[in-house]
Amino acid sequence: MRLPLKKCALFLLALMMIGIVCTAAYSQRRSAPVRGNPDIRKIVAEMSSRRIEASIRKLVSFGTRNTLSEQNDPNRGIGAARDWLYAEFQKAAAESGGRMTVEKQSYEQPRAPRIPQPTIVTNVVATLKGTQPESTSRVYVVSGHYDSMCSSPTDAKCDAPGANDDASGTAAVLEMARVMAKYKFEATIVFMAVAGEEQSLLGATYFAEQAKKNNMDIEAMFTNDIVGNTLGGNGVRDRRTVRVFSEGVPSNETAQEATTRRSVGGENDSQSRQLARFIKEVTERYVPAMKVTMIYRRDRYGRGGDHQPFLERGYAAVRFTEPNEDYRHQHQNIRIENGIQYGDLPQFVDFDYVANVARVNAASLAMLASAPARPKNVTMTTGLSNDTDLKWEANKEPDVAGYEVVWRDTTAATWTNSRPVGNVMTYTLKGMSKDNYFFGVRAVDQQGNRGPVTYPRPAARTQTTPRPSPRQTLP
Ligand SMILES: [Zn+2]
Repeated sequence: MRLPLKKCALFLLALMMIGIVCTAAYSQRRSAPVRGNPDIRKIVAEMSSRRIEASIRKLVSFGTRNTLSEQNDPNRGIGAARDWLYAEFQKAAAESGGRMTVEKQSYEQPRAPRIPQPTIVTNVVATLKGTQPESTSRVYVVSGHYDSMCSSPTDAKCDAPGANDDASGTAAVLEMARVMAKYKFEATIVFMAVAGEEQSLLGATYFAEQAKKNNMDIEAMFTNDIVGNTLGGNGVRDRRTVRVFSEGVPSNETAQEATTRRSVGGENDSQSRQLARFIKEVTERYVPAMKVTMIYRRDRYGRGGDHQPFLERGYAAVRFTEPNEDYRHQHQNIRIENGIQYGDLPQFVDFDYVANVARVNAASLAMLASAPARPKNVTMTTGLSNDTDLKWEANKEPDVAGYEVVWRDTTAATWTNSRPVGNVMTYTLKGMSKDNYFFGVRAVDQQGNRGPVTYPRPAARTQTTPRPSPRQTLP
């Protein structure tokens, strides 16, 4: 009777061991795939709509922020707003361990159509330096404009609260700086509040021009302008959607580049368009409460914004704007007319929505500055073949794990397929003709962070003549 008992105990012990092994294997399988970048999840969670509301109300409290308004009054005018923003960005920088620096970038704007007398224009610029030596010169810029206007752009005295246009964008950028200053990124991020937007994009133009002169490697620029109203003039309430405007054909393209682009059907694949696709992909993963609607235009119909001077200088750039605008609350003197309230007042701003737009920006910027850069010199051979050959330069970041080739049907809006191809610099897609798909390449690092896609340009045609087919060699 003893033996069976012993056997039974052994059997039970074996069962228990199997159970432990299985449970361990199961829990490992469940925890093995890291659910994205944990820092990005924390950043998204830390963004505060209360702080954004307080910033918007503070900016409104300066009465007007017209670029032509008082520069030295501590309470009213653009100077008071400038100094408050400078102090707030400095508070954010104090949390960065010396990695964020803040400056006032000023210049004197000569007389121009909306500038009746020479005027000092000041951008407040906070730079969070990247920590990876190979990536610190790679820069991502995010901006909002802190100037405002009433009905007349040159009226410096009227009240111009500019709660939505564009205290919303400015407050969003300030909140990003506050939260992100505490985190480390491989590449550099510039958070800025620019002036002179309503005077025809003056502050942004000055920054972009200086960047170009100094060969600054701006890989992407976001402008946030009018990102606070969720009830459109059309009566539509939409708290989930943010529009991302991106141009298809680059503003600065030469005639030769345009000819090449037409020959390969690349009108829908500028670097700015890749940026819009990147933002959409990151948002789906990290800010699922929000929906990015890509608009295939540089800006709203016939209109412009602070991303434009960057595009004109060859930088990839996009514009964020609310889904349905209400023109009664933009560029309007505050008044009641036929029972309708006009004016850009805080009561028409949805602060939770602004915070969500800020989250979309922050997640996208954090991924851009954590992931490897977009691959450079990506080319596709032009020879006649049913295969597609891609070639690119190796990225210089030491933590690059490899590359992915992506593709989509020519009528698809976003990249629908991706294939890890290893740490290589050439890849052939067998049996997939470049006539029938769009292809691109992106780099992935060891943590799984994916950078934006580069669309290949056609390689110079090789002089090899196609081998004659057997049929042709027959007599
Ligand atoms: Zn604006």
